Amino acid sequence: MKAKALMLGTCVVLLAAVIGYSTTQKHHWAVHDKNRPLPAVVTPGERAGQAPSDAIILFNGSDLSQWVSTKGNEPAQWKVENGYMEVVKKSGSLRTKQSFGDCQLHIEWATPTQTTGSGQKHGNSGVYLMGKYEVQVLDSYNNTTYADGQAAAIYGQNPPMVNACRPPGQWQSYDIIFRRPDFNSLTPATITVFHNGVLVQDHWVIEGTTEHKKRAEYSAHEYKLPLILQNHGDPVRYRNIWIRELPEPE
Ligand code: MG
Repeated sequence: MKAKALMLGTCVVLLAAVIGYSTTQKHHWAVHDKNRPLPAVVTPGERAGQAPSDAIILFNGSDLSQWVSTKGNEPAQWKVENGYMEVVKKSGSLRTKQSFGDCQLHIEWATPTQTTGSGQKHGNSGVYLMGKYEVQVLDSYNNTTYADGQAAAIYGQNPPMVNACRPPGQWQSYDIIFRRPDFNSLTPATITVFHNGVLVQDHWVIEGTTEHKKRAEYSAHEYKLPLILQNHGDPVRYRNIWIRELPEPE
């Protein structure tokens, strides 16, 4: 009897939740509203990873015109050859000239085949959304380090769901969907990451600015900031980098 009453109670609560959900949604448009603006037409790339027509090309394989060094505002000093850019030790990280907030980012990278270190000293670099929130780049193929510091980790916060790493020297990709933090409504940033097409971060709620050996915390910043590629001293390569600015959620 008690179990029946409990089940009935649960059903009522669930039903109320469903009804509550459907009646509290605010809609700007009627169902099938003919006045609702149609989505913009975008021509997708012909191959996986190829930029669609509305993307901003940040690196097309030939020059670093979209980038500056984080050392002062010096010109970017990384090596460009054979369609890729490569980290040059002590030349600073690279920062985009343009600033971004909500975005979809595609980036391809390869860790060096010649390397002497291990763990964090094995093809270390990083993709810093807004220059603050790092998706780790590292050789994590037969190279062990702490889980929240391996490739595709939100560094110091969340390991990837799986290790989808390819061997050093092979090209790999990140496809990232990033929503910036909103310091007015105290909404944290979120991030979704596909590593070589495999979902590894699923709408992770970022805890704050990337830190080393320290819990992350937020400090308020602008709504758009440059993307940064980390110079950790290892000759990591990047190619085919493009970004799409996303409309802010309603
Ligand atoms: Mg790094």
